[in-house]
Amino acid sequence: MPLTLLSVTSEVYPLVKTGGLADVAGALPAALAGAGVHTLTLIPGYPAVMKRLEGAETVHEYPRLIDTPARLLRGKAGALDLLVLEAPDYFDRPGNPYLGSDGLDWSDNAQRFAALSRAAADCAAGKVAGVLPDVVQAHDWQAALTPVYQHYDVPARRVPMVQTIHNLAFQGIFPAHLLGVLGLPAHAFALNGVEYHGQIGYLKGGILFADAVTTVSPTYAAEIRTPGQGMGLNGLLDGRADVLNGILNGIDVDVWDPSTDAALTATFDAASTARRAANKAALQARFGLDADPDALLIGVVSRLTEQKGLDLLLSALPDFAAIGAQLALLGSGDRALEDGFVNAAAEAQGRIGCVLGYDEGLAHLIQGGSDALLVPSRFEPCGLTQLCALRYGAVPLVSRVGGLNDTVIDASPVALRSGAATGVQFEPDSLPALRGGLARAARLFADRHEWATVQKNGMATDVSWDAPAREYAALFDRLVRAGTSGPRA
Ligand code: ADP
Repeated sequence: MPLTLLSVTSEVYPLVKTGGLADVAGALPAALAGAGVHTLTLIPGYPAVMKRLEGAETVHEYPRLIDTPARLLRGKAGALDLLVLEAPDYFDRPGNPYLGSDGLDWSDNAQRFAALSRAAADCAAGKVAGVLPDVVQAHDWQAALTPVYQHYDVPARRVPMVQTIHNLAFQGIFPAHLLGVLGLPAHAFALNGVEYHGQIGYLKGGILFADAVTTVSPTYAAEIRTPGQGMGLNGLLDGRADVLNGILNGIDVDVWDPSTDAALTATFDAASTARRAANKAALQARFGLDADPDALLIGVVSRLTEQKGLDLLLSALPDFAAIGAQLALLGSGDRALEDGFVNAAAEAQGRIGCVLGYDEGLAHLIQGGSDALLVPSRFEPCGLTQLCALRYGAVPLVSRVGGLNDTVIDASPVALRSGAATGVQFEPDSLPALRGGLARAARLFADRHEWATVQKNGMATDVSWDAPAREYAALFDRLVRAGTSGPRA
């Protein structure tokens, strides 16, 4: 019998996406199916989700969930088997799932995502018709009250729960006075409960009460146990080291397939990388860059934030002329960074190009046309763009942190000799290190034979979900076999 996983998430590709979480939640179900796990995805009923939901049936009605009426609908969207939490007061809002049009968090985010977790815990407890998951995966803070509710409910039917951390920077911290509104007992506001520096910490609770904690790369799993990267939760995470796993993300290799990709000017594979030249030319035209086939064209596809180290890149732009490089940057985010790149592009026309906004098709063209893809993050739980880059023959230039460290093999002399090198790594969080990394990339690019070898090694890397899905399936299986059902003492 396949296991049934209830995946609780605030975004899922292709319905609603602000970042890597959506990609993971969207791609894992198909990958897990191959490993004997059926996934039912629980997601809020945002307009984009309601629009795509097919064959919906009401499976549960809540006269009042947290502080609003709601119901659970079961249906499909493409291949995704969905449970949708329809609560119009909470989720029938346009735009970003977390922010209003003023760019600020919705003021009732605590209630909105507590409702998601409350519904998930009810599903786990067998209170929702036709829904009997064997195991639950709670993604990020938005789903992190799920194990918390299960803990305080002490239900007769208890299932193992996995808290997955995609980014520890977002923890879901809310005022203490909401405890009652969330339906948590007074004694939950304690060090060994959800209390977190005088407030309520959703992710803290999830980490504390989940049966296992995963994050999205082995290096990040180690980093978050340290004060430098633990964002205040390192002590708790260190205490849970015995159940903390790093499982790398993959990418959807059907969506990201350079041999069939309709967003490319020219499709290609590892045997026909010369065809990338047409994509490079298209990219140079699109970004207003000089039509120079010999320039080192460096692409960036990113949220424009400090996390991603793009303030450092701004400072490094004067080097681009000296190393004969061009920049094609696609992103949106911090206003100061957006302005900075727009100004830099105006000052260095033909060499620096930037497009602000979110554009899937252009992201694909950047991967298929750039010589290199730069990811200079200060921290990076896994990172997906470098995985796409490997598959598309854009040599990743990455800082040595988190999943970037685990997925890119630096072109050191030894790695070059042994044929293992797939990219260039540099130390994070410093301008000299970034400049050094760019200079190394330029030197490598100057040796076209060596560059092509690194590119081919990258394209041969398995970046699919196959191996990670097997790891998740094995973890779920272990937890279910460990027999965590029944109330925990
Ligand atoms: P994060 O989740 O921290 O933003 P990841 O690298 O894990 O970073 O995932 C980012 C995902 O979002 C990738 O699939 C990337 O291609 C995509 N992405 C980021 N910014 C843009 C953009 N401006 N336009 C199109 N896709 C983008």
